[in-house]
Amino acid sequence: MKSTVKQIAKQRIRILFHQAQRVHKSNPQLSRRYIATARKIAMATKIRLPTVYRRQICRKCNTLLVPGDNCRVRIKQKREPHVVITCLNCGRKTRIMLRKKKETMKFESNNQSNEASYQV
Ligand SMILES: [Zn+2]
Repeated sequence: MKSTVKQIAKQRIRILFHQAQRVHKSNPQLSRRYIATARKIAMATKIRLPTVYRRQICRKCNTLLVPGDNCRVRIKQKREPHVVITCLNCGRKTRIMLRKKKETMKFESNNQSNEASYQV
């Protein structure tokens, strides 16, 4: 029962994103509404938006981010290599860390030891 609700929700989210991409150029405001609706559906059904979709939207103003059009994509090396996506509509910056973090926190030492050494 629950899984069908989630399946429908996922389908709706996919449709909404598709529509948002379609009307993005002609009607950015409508596109924003589609994404806001998709996010609401995801929240209500406790679905995590797929990474592909999450990377495409601005968390603040729900704009569909299109590189070279309404967002700026920069690679930074400060502290850790990461990508900064700036929404040119509201100025919100989203950071994407490039190094995958392990579930267990690493100690100060930076030597490449195996995961096995952390298993107690
Ligand atoms: Zn924004």
